Amino acid sequence: MVNFIQQEIDNDLKAGKYTDGIHTRFPPEPNGYLHIGHAKSVCLNFGLALHNGGLCNLRFDDTNPTKEDVEFVDSIQEDIRWLGFDWGDRKFFASDYFGKFYDFAVELIKRGLAYVDDLTAEEIRAYRGTLTEPGKESPYRNRSVEENLDLFTRMKAGEFPDGSKVLRAKIDMSSPNINMRDPVIYRITRATHHHTGDDWLIYPMYDFAHPLEDAIENITHSVCTLEFEDHRPFYDWLLDALGFDPNTRPRQIEFARLDLTNTITSKRKLRQLVEENHVRGWDDPRMPTLCGLRRRGFTPAAIRDFCERIGVAKSNSLVDISMLEHCVREDLNVNAERVMAVLDPIKVVLTNVDENAVEYLTAENHPTRGGSRFVPFTREIFIEREDFMEDAPKKFFRLKPDGEVRLKHAYIIKCNEVIKNSDGEVTELHCTIDPTSKSGGATANRKIKGTIHWVSAKFAIPAEVRLYDYLLTTDENGNLPEDFIAALNPNSLIVKHALIEPSVRWTAAGTHYQFLRLGYFVVDPDTTADKLVFNRVVDLKSSFKVTVKADVERVIVKSR
Ligand code: ATP
Ligand code: MG
Repeated sequence: MVNFIQQEIDNDLKAGKYTDGIHTRFPPEPNGYLHIGHAKSVCLNFGLALHNGGLCNLRFDDTNPTKEDVEFVDSIQEDIRWLGFDWGDRKFFASDYFGKFYDFAVELIKRGLAYVDDLTAEEIRAYRGTLTEPGKESPYRNRSVEENLDLFTRMKAGEFPDGSKVLRAKIDMSSPNINMRDPVIYRITRATHHHTGDDWLIYPMYDFAHPLEDAIENITHSVCTLEFEDHRPFYDWLLDALGFDPNTRPRQIEFARLDLTNTITSKRKLRQLVEENHVRGWDDPRMPTLCGLRRRGFTPAAIRDFCERIGVAKSNSLVDISMLEHCVREDLNVNAERVMAVLDPIKVVLTNVDENAVEYLTAENHPTRGGSRFVPFTREIFIEREDFMEDAPKKFFRLKPDGEVRLKHAYIIKCNEVIKNSDGEVTELHCTIDPTSKSGGATANRKIKGTIHWVSAKFAIPAEVRLYDYLLTTDENGNLPEDFIAALNPNSLIVKHALIEPSVRWTAAGTHYQFLRLGYFVVDPDTTADKLVFNRVVDLKSSFKVTVKADVERVIVKSR
């Protein structure tokens, strides 16, 4: 692992800091399911720990009582394990530290570095100033330590209504960094917390809680996304103010969040998609959640590979989703067995094959890993409708009237007759096989341009195959419009009633296949004893190129 964060770690170690080892954390707020953006953070934090022989904690950052839920606590653990990482016995809840946070706040008050403020939220905002104007000090700023201690104790005891008082750090109202203008660190909120119930009436603000969580857990490198860069001075101020040793206390390092074309990576928006039923749930295969990607058939190895390849940058970038798909393809190309399925069937009668005959042909399962199975061949088969063309151009090397094509693993066939209904639609093709042309057979010496897939009409299994397109359409730069609901793609799910060769009948949900010539597919958990359901993971095409737009300082990985 070579990235700028590792370089910072190397520098720290060289400077004699963090002699007890490197310790990172992944700190999700349990208010939604993890998505592909979180995967980058998971891979980075656990990856840094692994690379440096250190540790990585899982910490639920559950300091906000109103939006969080145990459902999410469970799913987050499942998803991190699925990605391939383990936090051992280091699963923590920030809410377990509420008592410690309170003590640290009291300590700040005692050191004259925090005060209780009676200004309303609106007044606090007005007093804060702007980027160009300094802020104004609150009239309550110079309360005595005794008075502040008394008021803060009574805030905790529930003597004051919600929002009537806050605790603020006492730093500098004219700091050029607005985050340093006496930030609020505690507020009064009468809300039931999913972990601590009604124990607390005051809750710490994120900027106050997070550095303390890191310090309590002996984290060395607190990796977070770029929007927290302006918060770092307060992170440092707080830990210094409380007397943590600069050689061992955590430091914050920011990296660019992952943004993907055609993809939402905001938990709030993902929740809206679920709650307004635009998708079938958090694990809908069109969702960028890890449970959605899992159901879609994306593999943990491919996602880890993707996170490694996109790297870690200091400026925001937009990555083309085709790069993630490319990683999935590479993994499945090696690991998925090949079978034949027909998504849009048209019947072919092989007039020189006996009605009751069944020939079991040998078909290889994988071009490099080998293995084989039997595929039944019968008089009636189905081929893909688009593999036949009546008025075919010269370069059409599939089936056409009087033309020949090879059936994969089987014979060369010739189309002799095209049967149509009264509307003129082709309903059936009558063909003959060349018995000397059997694949791998002793007499199969004839070369032919086209090879198509097929299934036996008698033995094929019906299956529901779900084809996905992007949930959202974007502009040519890959950006989503402000109103993302308006950008929902009405064709993001297309259901096909397909026919599949019988070898797949008893496979479990989560099993991957390449359907020859069609793409990679996975068995969906909706599959029952009576009904097979597949999701298309990705198609077979695989091409992307990298372009860098220097003017906007972001990397765009564009598909061709
Ligand atoms: P929201 O989506 O509600 O804004 P969040 O993405 O910040 O919230 P958290 O639960 O706080 O959600 O995230 C946990 C960790 O994952 C944080 O350290 C955060 O920086 C990181 N993370 C979240 N989104 C991304 C992303 N798109 N790319 C990289 N890291 C991310
Ligand atoms: Mg967050």
